[in-house]
This record gives sequence, structure tokens and C-alpha cells, in this order.
Amino acid sequence: MKTLVVCNWKMNPSSWKEAKKLFEETKKAAGKARSVSVVVAPPALYLRELSKLARSIPLAVQHAHADEGGAHTGEISLAQAAESKATYAIIGHAERRAQGETIEDTNKQILSALAHKMTPILCVGESTRSIQGEYFETVRSQVKGALTTVPQNRIATIIIAYEPVWAIGAPRPMAPRDMHEMGIFIRKTIVQGWGDVGHAVTVLYGGAVDSTNAAQILDEGDVRGFLVGRASAEPEKIKALIQSLS
Ligand code: PEP
Repeated sequence: MKTLVVCNWKMNPSSWKEAKKLFEETKKAAGKARSVSVVVAPPALYLRELSKLARSIPLAVQHAHADEGGAHTGEISLAQAAESKATYAIIGHAERRAQGETIEDTNKQILSALAHKMTPILCVGESTRSIQGEYFETVRSQVKGALTTVPQNRIATIIIAYEPVWAIGAPRPMAPRDMHEMGIFIRKTIVQGWGDVGHAVTVLYGGAVDSTNAAQILDEGDVRGFLVGRASAEPEKIKALIQSLS
């Protein structure tokens, strides 16, 4: 199975010219790495133009509203994102939750993404950790809440990106053994709600991943790939990261 690298460009780069260059470099590196598959999540206004540059690199929307239309100034809908060629949807990123996105919102977005034949990438993760282990409950409620009423036959198509909030933008990722433990916990949570198909759910890790740590995380962290922020938004860094995995 290929390692999945989801490139979350966030609000970068600052011009279409740079976006095109970053995309071309990412595509070139992905083309040489047979064991890696890459999804790019650019700012939404670049989706349609980027989709013309490569079919081999699927596109994701970084966030979109569940409603089909209406009075939501500044938002775009999942329907519009799908029509603009996004086939994946990042849902519940920590930076969106920090701006007030609720578990109920993530549930509506998952259902809307599925209705528009998109693959949801659900981001979950605790803000802090303490020895009492309450972070397991936090992640359980994010997973169960977002997936409420998702039919059993669609559950294995959902991708979960485990991103401890304290590791996003941090100097170092979390320890692979802790990822391993959370990966098992997430799959167990889904199995409890939806049965054995939950074992097939893809779990990614996100938080301070780059070319210096990705291969080791893959070896020891029991994850199928990564959601990458900073290291995906610079041509040299994403090239090095993809090369380190191939
Ligand atoms: C993220 O924002 O999802 C993320 C993982 O960021 P970074 O790789 O920069 O830590």
C-alpha cells in the first residue's frame, strides 16, 4: 500500500505563479516516488486551475461549508469545491476548530462531502496531554461525533488525520510510539461503532513532519501517511520529504 502524503498549503503561497511552481515541483517529486501518493490541498481559489495541470495529483479543499448555498459570507460549499475538482475534503482541522467549528459542523461536512463523492480527511487531536489520559476521550468524541450516521458501507473510505494540536507548527513531532497507541485507539473506536470495517480505516499523522523524521515515523508510528503543513509549502522541503519516503 502506498504512503499517502496530504499537502496542506494553508494560506500559501502568496501568488498564483508560486502556487504553480510549488505544484509542479510536488508533482515531479511524486512522479519519481512509486511508493508515495500525494494529495494537494491548495487555497480554494487555485483548485480549478491546478486541476488542469495534473490528473495524477488529486486535490483537496482545506475547509468548506456543509450547506449547499445560502448566506455564509466568505465561505464556499463542499458542492462548489467538488465542482472545482476537489476530490478530497479536509474536515475539522485544528485551525478551523480554533475559530469555532464544532463537532456537529464536522459531522455535517462529512455527510456533505460523501454526498458529493469526495473522500473526507477528518482531523482529530487533543490540545494538551496530561497523565490522566483524558486526551483519549477527546479524540473518541471527535471521531464518533463527526462520523455519526455515516453508513457502515462508507466508513472505510474515511481518512482520519490524527494531529495533536500541540505538535502542529511545533519544532518536533510526537513520539512514534504515542502515535501507534492513538492509531490503535482510533481504529478501535470505529470498530466499536461500525464493526470490523473500522480496521480498514486509514490513519494519518500530522504535526511537524518533514524529511528528517517521516521515514522513522512510518516505520514505528503505525500510520499510513501524513498530513503536512509547513514542509509542503516550500518546493525544496516537499521534494526532500517525498524523496525520504521512497
Ligand atoms: C497542520 O497544520 O496540519 C500541520 C501538520 O502543520 P505542520 O506540518 O506545519 O506542523
